[in-house]
Amino acid sequence: MVLDCPRNLLRDAESPDPRPGAGQVLIRINACAVCRTDLHVVDGELPEPKLPLIPGHEIVGRVAEIGKDARRFKVGDRVGVPWLGWTCGQCEYCRTNRENLCSQARFTGYTLDGGYAESCVADERFCFHIPEIYSDTEAAPLLCAGLIGFRSLVRTGDARRLGIYGFGGAAHIITQIAQYQGRKVYAFTRPGDQAGQEFARSLGASWAGDSDSRPPEPLDAAIIFAPAGELIPLALAAVTRGGIVVCGGIHMSDVPSFPYELLWHERTVCSIANLTRRDGEEFFAIAPRVPVRTSVQTFALAEANEALDRLRAGNIHGAAVLVVQ
Ligand SMILES: [Zn+2]
Ligand SMILES: [Zn+2]
Repeated sequence: MVLDCPRNLLRDAESPDPRPGAGQVLIRINACAVCRTDLHVVDGELPEPKLPLIPGHEIVGRVAEIGKDARRFKVGDRVGVPWLGWTCGQCEYCRTNRENLCSQARFTGYTLDGGYAESCVADERFCFHIPEIYSDTEAAPLLCAGLIGFRSLVRTGDARRLGIYGFGGAAHIITQIAQYQGRKVYAFTRPGDQAGQEFARSLGASWAGDSDSRPPEPLDAAIIFAPAGELIPLALAAVTRGGIVVCGGIHMSDVPSFPYELLWHERTVCSIANLTRRDGEEFFAIAPRVPVRTSVQTFALAEANEALDRLRAGNIHGAAVLVVQ
């Protein structure tokens, strides 16, 4: 199954704005970052998307209209809309502070219309205030690369030597927080990606090298942001006893078999799914203190396909952001 390309899904200027329902706000979109998950959605690699669909789940805009019973924001407020767009509030996961696992959850730009558009509606309970220090384009990548990257980082506990596989949007944000927390970062890129390795070093990574090479010392933890299953055995081989390998992406190619020895000595492999609103509150509290700066390459809304193509080819350093208005 392949979705229509996003160019065909954009709402044209004559189309009316969506109407905010109860508890929702209508948002005039200023910027929407482009996430690797958008590629998986557009390529049909994730099951049962809303169709037709407007992709995009790293939205920054201003509240233009307030739906019935919505009272968190007022018209003109700047808000961010993340991947997690709605949860049931009643299932065993929602009731135990794990709304990221809600089986009925709806996701922006996947099962809800997203931000590759001039406007969108969003459930106000899942929107965030954006810290003043960020411009719209700087803030957009924080909404997923930042939030889900941060959840991945938290999962590594107090690991001091941290490996990061796949040095894109999430990695460039998380590297800054990791160093602020006193950790050392080891960056792994596609083999031969000298520019990517240089970018990692420029952000303070202690070491940068090819994903199939060994770091200069054993790692306490590794986060894999690249969607390549073969990185799991490589990362396991790089972490020390008791180390953890956190998979931060929503989709990954199959994991090749590997000897149990790589997992032995209490090494752990886990995935990170989605985010909770609490992750967002914690992330937006720490990000301005670091302060996290995002490196963005901007594209016009009509260039969404080019942005996706460049992301697919590994030609984006930092994050791609669509500038809407
Ligand atoms: Zn639920
Ligand atoms: Zn994302």
